[in-house]
Amino acid sequence: MEDVKMLIEREIDALKEDIIASTIRLIKVRSVEDEPQEGMPFGKGVNDALVFCEELCRKLGFETKNFDGYALEARFGNQNEDVCVIGHLDIVPEGEGWSVPPYEGVIKDGKIYGRGAIDDKGPSIAALYGMYVVKKLAEEGKISLDRSLRFVFGTNEESGSKCLQYYFKKAKYPTVGFTPDADFPVIQGEKGFLVFELSKNVYGNFYLEGGERLNMVPDSCIFSGDFDLQKAKEIISKKNLEAKAEVYEQDGRGVIKTKGVSAHGSLPFKGENAISYMFDILQDLYEREDEFKRFIEFYNKHIGYDIFGKGLNIAFEDQKSGKLVLNAGMVKKFDDKVVLTVNIRYPVETVYEEIEKEILNVIKDYDVDYKLITDMPPLYFEEDHFLIKTLLDVYKEFTGDDGRPLVIGGGTYARWAKNVVAFGPNMPGDEEVAHQKDEYIAVDRLLMCAKIYANAIYRLAKKD
Ligand SMILES: [Zn+2]
Repeated sequence: MEDVKMLIEREIDALKEDIIASTIRLIKVRSVEDEPQEGMPFGKGVNDALVFCEELCRKLGFETKNFDGYALEARFGNQNEDVCVIGHLDIVPEGEGWSVPPYEGVIKDGKIYGRGAIDDKGPSIAALYGMYVVKKLAEEGKISLDRSLRFVFGTNEESGSKCLQYYFKKAKYPTVGFTPDADFPVIQGEKGFLVFELSKNVYGNFYLEGGERLNMVPDSCIFSGDFDLQKAKEIISKKNLEAKAEVYEQDGRGVIKTKGVSAHGSLPFKGENAISYMFDILQDLYEREDEFKRFIEFYNKHIGYDIFGKGLNIAFEDQKSGKLVLNAGMVKKFDDKVVLTVNIRYPVETVYEEIEKEILNVIKDYDVDYKLITDMPPLYFEEDHFLIKTLLDVYKEFTGDDGRPLVIGGGTYARWAKNVVAFGPNMPGDEEVAHQKDEYIAVDRLLMCAKIYANAIYRLAKKD
């Protein structure tokens, strides 16, 4: 085994410049989801990235197949079983505040900067070259493989993974595999991901809107209507929310704007929910005895500032994955109803039906309607599973780190495949740069990932 490790190390070192250049080339493509075009279900930018990878895979000697612009598959070998790596080419928009251009792949202080550098272009390129090296050594007869190799580039991970859902309708599930799109040491579990709407018919001439994305803690919420400004100020002061809310008049109507702290929806305890501040204030401010009043009461009694689902009787937790967490991500009043969108990450031993049953039981007293939007069941692999054991071993050999497998509340491609877990590229203690300004991957990390991934692919390609 040691010999193979050294062979791989040498090959990756020799490919260093290619790996860096390919990463930069890919960063230069602004592959943000856009209007669909013929054969480009997620727009031209995303498709350009796919086309670049198709050429690269061919150049590296893989057989390729493009799945109608949804995914690209690269293959080597003709065994029945296979090892599959799945990376994504789409990125979230660059946002503001960058100190370098986000689509040039600038190298500064040993880091390659750009949107997608760590999520997920750099790691995907590292893994692709890792797979190439394993292929090359097998072709040269220096190693033997019991399983075929398959690389899949997806194009829609950031907004629903419709790419993999399409792909796996046409392709078979892998025997084993990983997606280089989260954290080391290895992700053994992902909590269930649930989105639902709670709505109630309300009437009245007021405006309410908060939050932009259901998977983010809302940092702003606005209410406007006819109310006494002075009274609103007193309530805010009594509740010690002066720093969280402002009151002013606009076009003859009162406006309240609450300010929270944004955070990822899987980590609501890191943020402050602007919608919860708003409902707290409305509890004392809103005087009419009507349907909306009932909704305010419902919110404060059964959600409020709680993020573990206690008020909804769904505070489930287990040893393997911890507590359920809840994020009231968006609220909006339409013509005749108010709609609250809630995102829940539930423990791996909880089943959806238990959650639904409890919520229905609570809301029936308030005439609130429940609508399921998405449920992605949890995934979990025991620590002694071949996949977890192998990936953890490889990681340990490279880093000497004695880390444990992780369970996360976020979701990766692993949910849409089978026999696949997330493996790297972030290491314990790393700065969180995915989806942020000045996203980067260190050159050393890129090469380290290529080596770790090559070894992982080789080891997974040997039958246990
Ligand atoms: Zn990603």
